Amino acid sequence: MGVGPLRVEFSDPVSLDLVRQQNPRLGAGGRYRPDNCVALQKVALIIPFRHREDHLKFWLYYLHPILQRQQLDYGVYVINQSGEDTFNRAKLLNVGYAEALKEYDYDCFVFSDVDLIPMDDRNTYRCYGQPRHLSVSMDKFDFRLPYWQYFGGVSSLSKEQFLKINGFPNNYWGWGGEDDDIYNRLSYKGMSISRPSSDIGRCRMIRHNRDAKNEENPQRFNRIAHTRDTMSRDGISSLKYMVVKVEKAPFYTMITVDVGKPGS
Ligand code: BGC
Repeated sequence: MGVGPLRVEFSDPVSLDLVRQQNPRLGAGGRYRPDNCVALQKVALIIPFRHREDHLKFWLYYLHPILQRQQLDYGVYVINQSGEDTFNRAKLLNVGYAEALKEYDYDCFVFSDVDLIPMDDRNTYRCYGQPRHLSVSMDKFDFRLPYWQYFGGVSSLSKEQFLKINGFPNNYWGWGGEDDDIYNRLSYKGMSISRPSSDIGRCRMIRHNRDAKNEENPQRFNRIAHTRDTMSRDGISSLKYMVVKVEKAPFYTMITVDVGKPGS
């Protein structure tokens, strides 16, 4: 069903009307399931989010047709951090896992940054025998991995893999380190990373400036050095947040949440 390499570019803005025209079979809240077969996996796509509406439009425009060609039974969950305190990507991902499971019996979770678009639809957004890193050759890193343990951008974990590592850390506020902590968790639990080849794993990032309230986290090196001690008590088992609003938009479900602030 795939078409292989895709043209991906961001010079002209896309409209939600176009997304509507191109995805007539998409259900409310960004749900889809193929009608001529039973999909092998039930996939929740989780996107951590705040103030990136234009990026989200590109993501929806490019990803929905790809995910349908991949014949996935899927739902798109945009996890929007309320307020203007420091951003917390990994905690939003934990919230996405918990909230998606309240709606449907998902068995696979794809965690994607809002600004990353795959350039080849053979890069299947599903789960594998080992945790999967999907954004392996990004334009911003000259289509190479920046370092071997890199697990940022787009990744997927089955429910079982996610629970084995107690989910993701909740206490990385600001930019950086949380993806390295997740890598540590996987490796301490004896798992390895599965990856597509670098040509199939090509993707483009929408260029942008660093967001306000997402400054580099100076504590990240210290935290990463202690994952082994902290992972059993900090994770999905200790997750606390408040849902502010759930919106069923035509192409995604947006869950606005209060995740607190550093030290809370
Ligand atoms: C940070 C990661 C980031 C990577 C690539 C590392 O130094 O800790 O969070 O994904 O750089 O930019």
